[in-house]
Amino acid sequence: MIFNNSNHLNMSKELTDRSRQSVQQARQVLILNLLVYTGISAAEIFIGQRAHSTALLADGQNNVTGIISVTALIVGLTFSIRPSDAYHLEGHWQFENLAVFLSGLIMFLVGVACAWDGGTKVVALITNHYTGQVQGAAAVMAAISAGTMLTLSLVNRTLSGRTKSASLAASARDFLNDALTSTGTMLAIIVASVWHIYWIDPLAAIILGGFIIYNGSRILSDSAAKLSNGFSPAIRQAITATIESANEVQAVTFVDGRYSGSNIIVAAEIVLAAQTTVPEAYRICQHVQLLLQIQFPILYCCIQVKPASPQHTLHP
Ligand SMILES: [Zn+2]
Repeated sequence: MIFNNSNHLNMSKELTDRSRQSVQQARQVLILNLLVYTGISAAEIFIGQRAHSTALLADGQNNVTGIISVTALIVGLTFSIRPSDAYHLEGHWQFENLAVFLSGLIMFLVGVACAWDGGTKVVALITNHYTGQVQGAAAVMAAISAGTMLTLSLVNRTLSGRTKSASLAASARDFLNDALTSTGTMLAIIVASVWHIYWIDPLAAIILGGFIIYNGSRILSDSAAKLSNGFSPAIRQAITATIESANEVQAVTFVDGRYSGSNIIVAAEIVLAAQTTVPEAYRICQHVQLLLQIQFPILYCCIQVKPASPQHTLHP
């Protein structure tokens, strides 16, 4: 038996090329994100120290975790476009979902840290140990940060829709979190410095922590579903309908899908007339794969043929 390793899986070359291209685009956007995160967080930590604002310092630290999260995504994407090797026959696309999962986990932990910070400050306030001497000037830096983060969130979201990149979608949510954190920081600094209401600051931290935990959990759950081979029943049904639309296919007995990165791999069993020859059956399978690839981002299909039994009626 001839085992041709290079084309063993009969993968869609067009989709592979297209995916590689959109990953490269996503990576360029992420590198821009990284530069912005570095600039903003450095400025916030510098000004936070000069203006004695713990809130701005905390916001700067929150943006430092953004640097870690974006670095994880860039490393993940760099791995994901590596070509197939003997160990990863279908390519390394899953590294993208793995990186998204990690960035979701980082976001979740940042949320917990934020809420914990707020909680301990509330305790410090109750026991009269809180010494907040915030300068209003720190609010300007927080406002600059909020504006930048909101702009980048919109840019990432638009591009994630165009490239279908899970990394950019995660990154957009990350930036939205940061925009809200900076806005909260700004409001807390203003209220604390103008009206001297110091409990506003930790309360904002607790609320924002809860929001960051919620968003991190959504990213975690999306990527965990893909990493654990979960597949939407609605898409499975649409794939079944497409296979059934091929004339020679009498019935579809089994369909399952799973993700490799943002691409789909389909396993199916179809019923063909018992007298179908092997070359004919092969041609039908190729035709079915082509039909599917027109509608869905299918990397490749594994189709098993079952001969119709004599009792089997046409199109049950
Ligand atoms: Zn490998």
